[in-house]
Amino acid sequence: MYRNAKNVSYYMIGQGALAQLDDLVSARRAVHDGPAVYFLDHFFEDKNLHDRLPVMPGDQVVYVDTTDEPTTEYMDVIAAKLRAQVSELPCCMVALGGGATMDTCKAVANLMTNPGKAEDYQGWDLVKHPAPYKIAAPTLAGTGAECSRTCVLSNVRKNLKLGMNSDFTMFDQVLLDPDLTRTVPRNQYFYTGIDTYMHCFESLTGSYRNVVVDALAQKAVEMCKDIFLSDDMMSDENREKMMIASYLGGMAAGFVGVVHPVSAGLSVALHLHHGIANCYALSVLEDIYPEQHKDFMTMMERQGIELPRGICADLTDAQYDALYEGTIVHERPLSNRLGPDYRKILTRENLIDRFKRM
Ligand code: NAD
Ligand code: ZN
Repeated sequence: MYRNAKNVSYYMIGQGALAQLDDLVSARRAVHDGPAVYFLDHFFEDKNLHDRLPVMPGDQVVYVDTTDEPTTEYMDVIAAKLRAQVSELPCCMVALGGGATMDTCKAVANLMTNPGKAEDYQGWDLVKHPAPYKIAAPTLAGTGAECSRTCVLSNVRKNLKLGMNSDFTMFDQVLLDPDLTRTVPRNQYFYTGIDTYMHCFESLTGSYRNVVVDALAQKAVEMCKDIFLSDDMMSDENREKMMIASYLGGMAAGFVGVVHPVSAGLSVALHLHHGIANCYALSVLEDIYPEQHKDFMTMMERQGIELPRGICADLTDAQYDALYEGTIVHERPLSNRLGPDYRKILTRENLIDRFKRM
């Protein structure tokens, strides 16, 4: 079977593009009576972003707590609240934030038109009914969540991190305004932005390939190198470039390799956030990705980013087991880079040794 790949229907790029959100939302109000629902990262709670949005009486503004990565329980809570507050389906749902806020918008939107709980839809193509129209305006770039067909959710009860992979999960409209990333702390900007670089080089150095994915991934890698090897990754020009690289990288969505499984081990066992966990992972994979490791170390140095060492130095045996198990379960990505005998290369000792060097 050939995969029938969907893309985001509309996108807009440019400094100040947020001013056009009014037109986009108005167009939705014209075809649907319901309110607009805005999801804003909690960072913006005491900033003036709200005042710049086309919020009308009856609309809902939800501040998303992104201290932790989104959980299925949190999605259920927000969805239940919204259902109680609005009597009609929203005319559109708008996300302004990073990956966590965009994923929250995607998950809650699916729950507006599909019964049950968030965990019922963790998996592939389980969402049955289209969600309300969704608009993403990222305020942090790199995850590609603005154009991917998933929303990553932790299910604490099942000890599972899995998205609602569905065409219905995708945004209908993306608005890329680099002004929105101006306030991101430098470390955070690096950790998230570099996710694009990682996804794309992992895909390009794997064995499961596809020409379209390769083309997008190559361009995204080239742009990330321009950004992170430059003097200032956060210049006006580079912030715009980063948004485009993230968009291309999200569309590429190829198979990852060894970085993401090691990173997942860190997230599962030590609750590290995705972006920084990726950085720790690549920092100890110099033999598996020599060229990318070298570039990455130069990027960190040039941008003044530090990874505090020793995070896995003195853990219990149970914690090392969790790190190992949380990594080695990812058969497909690991074999993508290392072949079917990946367990012979990444033995328990070998992996734990790497964790101890972080
Ligand atoms: P995030 O959304 O978790 O935000 C990180 C921090 O940056 C938060 O503290 C937030 O308040 C802050 N922040 C965001 N925008 C800001 C701004 N403009 N100014 C100042 N601070 C700002 O970070 P992220 O790295 O973008 O997203 C990570 C999440 O994305 C994880 O939950 C991960 O699982 C998910 N993810 C999703 C996909 C996908 O395809 N759906 C892909 C990769 C990762
Ligand atoms: Zn990633």
